Amino acid sequence: MEKFDVIIVGAGLAGLATAYTLAKEGFEPLVLERGDYAGAKNVTGGRIYLNPVRGMFPADFWDKAPLERPVTTEIITMLSGDAATSLRFRAAEFAAPPYQSYTVQRVKFDRWFGNQATCAGAMLVTKSRVDDVIVDGGRVVGVVAGGEELGADVVVACDGALSLVAEKAGLRKPGQPQDYAVGFKQVVELPEKAIEDRFGLPAGEGAAQLFMGALTRGRFGGGFLYTNKASVSLGMVVGIRDMMDGQPPVEPGVLLEEFKQRPEIAPLIEGGEAVEFSAHVIPEAGYNGVGKLAGDGILLAGDAAGFSLNMGLTVRGMEFAIASGVIAAQAIKRAAEKKDYSAGSLSAYRTLLGDSFVLKDLATFREAPHILDNPRFFTYYPELAGRILRDIFSIGIQPKERFGPTVRRHFGLADITGILKDGWKGRKL
Ligand SMILES: Cc1cc2nc3c(=O)[nH]c(=O)nc-3n(C[C@H](O)[C@H](O)[C@H](O)COP(=O)(O)OP(=O)(O)OC[C@H]3O[C@@H](n4cnc5c(N)ncnc54)[C@H](O)[C@@H]3O)c2cc1C
Repeated sequence: MEKFDVIIVGAGLAGLATAYTLAKEGFEPLVLERGDYAGAKNVTGGRIYLNPVRGMFPADFWDKAPLERPVTTEIITMLSGDAATSLRFRAAEFAAPPYQSYTVQRVKFDRWFGNQATCAGAMLVTKSRVDDVIVDGGRVVGVVAGGEELGADVVVACDGALSLVAEKAGLRKPGQPQDYAVGFKQVVELPEKAIEDRFGLPAGEGAAQLFMGALTRGRFGGGFLYTNKASVSLGMVVGIRDMMDGQPPVEPGVLLEEFKQRPEIAPLIEGGEAVEFSAHVIPEAGYNGVGKLAGDGILLAGDAAGFSLNMGLTVRGMEFAIASGVIAAQAIKRAAEKKDYSAGSLSAYRTLLGDSFVLKDLATFREAPHILDNPRFFTYYPELAGRILRDIFSIGIQPKERFGPTVRRHFGLADITGILKDGWKGRKL
């Protein structure tokens, strides 16, 4: 059996960060990717936050990276059946370099990142699907790809949310529907000027817009719209349990079409050409979904380890994937120095992650999945906001009443009790 020092399964952000960092340290890792090229099968919203990972790479790394637009404008929109309530935020700090976050297209970014990893000394083999893990005496000693057995001191599972490698190695159980969401999106090409005019953006700047409410027909989830250089990424995320249980059943494609036809969206993408459609699973369990991260001869990174965090107002997974890949490489370096790849030796990985933002942020927001799993966020609150604002902004034939009584009319005892209960639960965010 051909033997490598490290085999990395998956050329997404976690896999490429592991490979790049190891190669820079003098290792010759092998990356196996089932897609035609790195990024070919990878989906994100998406916006990447750079501050947590900027310092993990050479100073000019992010300047050269094919990022889209720095996000300077945040928009949160609640949609009811016939109204939309938005909060728009722009801060000078977000609009000055170094920008905290950028929109990104994975097809371009991962391909570029793959080239950086191979230039640094990693081997990237594409169109190569890993079908099994080789276990000898309880220890992972390699993988099977394309019918060929390949050996390694360490295997790093970076094969995404439904990690086959982690399951086969006995580190994760098959996921439950409530722990995952499905995301589906379209990329719609538009001229750069049209994007800036339609979103009211200064030249070169970008916007991130999140939606919640009627678009998911009461199901857990929401929508997103990110402005790229000359396209917008438009999509939705819906909890898989709600997708399966919701009555009447509805196809994701139908929800996305309805969303696109809303008067808040249609003018933004009018005349644009849909050039890409993709769908992918997202881990939604947060900290409580993080289980074993290391075994004998194996580590898990990125979505394969469950490192994804939906905080309601922001969706984060990409910088967790990158950071966990870098930290996996650091743990492997330590293990190699001792020539000890046992679970005990590789457990340094969890310690290093615990010292980093990865496990700290996941732990801080560990209650987020429970708090957000509340149908009232997707029905009651967007409807309430729409009703109150409609009454406030309406001028009818009758004399106008004061704002206080107008607002109070929308709150019975049950409403106040419900809001207080949600607020009490929400204090943990
Ligand atoms: C719709 C949507 C919107 C999102 N929005 C955001 C956002 O705005 N911001 C953010 O930070 N995060 C976002 N996320 C989450 C983010 O995209 C993920 O957390 C991130 O992509 C995880 O990276 P990864 O490298 O762990 O996994 P992936 O990017 O999934 O990479 C896994 C790789 O493994 C390969 N692979 C899988 N199985 C095998 C196998 N058996 N053999 C060989 N190769 C294999 C795949 O082809 C792929 O290349 C979003 C996700 C979705 C789906």
